[in-house]
Amino acid sequence: MNRIILHWTAGGPVPTSYEKDCYHYLIDSLGRVHKGKFKPEANAVCKKGMYAMHTGGGNTGSIGVSMCAMANFRNKNNQGDFPITKIQFEATMKLCAKLAKDYDIDITPEMVMTHYEFGQKHPETTSYGKIDIIFLPPYPWISKEDVGSFIRSKIRWYEGASKE
Ligand SMILES: [Zn+2]
Repeated sequence: MNRIILHWTAGGPVPTSYEKDCYHYLIDSLGRVHKGKFKPEANAVCKKGMYAMHTGGGNTGSIGVSMCAMANFRNKNNQGDFPITKIQFEATMKLCAKLAKDYDIDITPEMVMTHYEFGQKHPETTSYGKIDIIFLPPYPWISKEDVGSFIRSKIRWYEGASKE
């Protein structure tokens, strides 16, 4: 596994069984981590029906981590019924730091990214135009262009904290 791609589910506060098919790890609104149906290793070589389909055009080698939230999100003034919570976001960053360490993944824009960033870099894929993650409800002042680097800084912080 050489990459981590972060998502939101566009669903409710806890994972559904369908969502568990799509991601390797899901974090609920209380910050609890749920394992998906497939292990990350299932995406090392993607066989039909045997891997987590989280990122169109980018599933191979990619660990999919998703926050259970954001159903009916429209924009910062209309965030839907289940905005990402602070505890959920922090738990997600902590999990990504552990995954980066366990799989020896560098916390760089090439290796740790949002689904939105992947789509922007790969306009030929079905991931183009995905909006997860363009907005962070606990940090509403961060622009959509800056969410990815904000996330990487947070993950690096947790990585450093775990070494103490
Ligand atoms: Zn996504």
